[in-house]
Amino acid sequence: IKRIGVLTSGGDAPGMNAAIRAVVRSCVYYGIEPFGIYRGYEGLIENDVEQMNAGSVKHIIHQGGTILKSARSPQFKTKEGMAQAWENIQEHELDALVVIGGDGTFKGAMEFGNKYDFPIVGIPGTIDNDIYGTDFAIGFDTALNTVVEAVDKIRDTATSHNRLFFIEVMGRDAGFIAMYSGIGGGAEEVLIPEKDRGIEQLFESLERTSKRNKSSRLVIVAEGDKNGSVYDLEEQVKEQFGDRYETKVTILGHVQRGGRPSCGDRVLASRLGVLSVEALRDGKRDIMVGIRNRKVEYTELDHATKRNPKMDKELVRVADIISI
Ligand code: ATP
Repeated sequence: IKRIGVLTSGGDAPGMNAAIRAVVRSCVYYGIEPFGIYRGYEGLIENDVEQMNAGSVKHIIHQGGTILKSARSPQFKTKEGMAQAWENIQEHELDALVVIGGDGTFKGAMEFGNKYDFPIVGIPGTIDNDIYGTDFAIGFDTALNTVVEAVDKIRDTATSHNRLFFIEVMGRDAGFIAMYSGIGGGAEEVLIPEKDRGIEQLFESLERTSKRNKSSRLVIVAEGDKNGSVYDLEEQVKEQFGDRYETKVTILGHVQRGGRPSCGDRVLASRLGVLSVEALRDGKRDIMVGIRNRKVEYTELDHATKRNPKMDKELVRVADIISI
């Protein structure tokens, strides 16, 4: 392998820069020429490609977002789009690709890799942490810290006014951000799609704790929760409890996607970046690099996209016990 292209695609995540840096630096280390592809698959189709060197990734390890930019590319799902991308890959004489993103990005990589018999390795980068084959995806840890910092602040004001807050966090169909930040932020209740216990459970919990003189109550709600939006929840609680609770809603939104990556994310991204280049050198392809139980793991892209990571039952149990 003489030339490797690297791109970031789908939703951005803090730590993607550290991954790009590690990919580029490992390439240089192993005598491979690195190429940065801007705006994900969109840039590949539009030939927005630039040769990189060790210096092109200086001073980025601490920056959120991605210097290569990210995009969603409907064109890449078409025959013509893929053909154009293939033409550009040939023009730059790339021998392999490293794609950093979520499962959509991996699906695209698989389709493309199969169609043109081209080696691609994926690096999991998404704050949602909804990728099978790795304990943690790049960006998750930073997002958790952002959420917990916000939850701490909301707790202050909730306490001053004796309020019940519904806080919506990201995660798409997964409840990982909600579960971890719920435990770390000391929430009374965490609502996640993986373990839907219905609104009755929330009513029960609020009923139970209403007897205790709590000065504030925080309910963390995953955006994919099956009981409706946070506003629906607030409405239902109002109907059930009348003015026994003064309720408020906060949707944290895109602040969760930004910010300086945590040290944990920088280390994870650096490891996965190095591993991706080494995997390609070893002749691996159609796989995602990940770390599970502190061990390096290679997961077929097919599995990474089709399987869902499981919510750890132990976490659910802990959340239940400490929120009595
Ligand atoms: P996140 O989960 O953080 O949003 P993601 O990688 O899942 O990240 P998507 O927008 O789902 O984000 O996918 C990124 C891009 O991958 C799409 O815009 C598209 O270009 C490409 N892609 C997704 N699915 C396919 C597919 N089946 N065939 C070809 N390309 C695809």
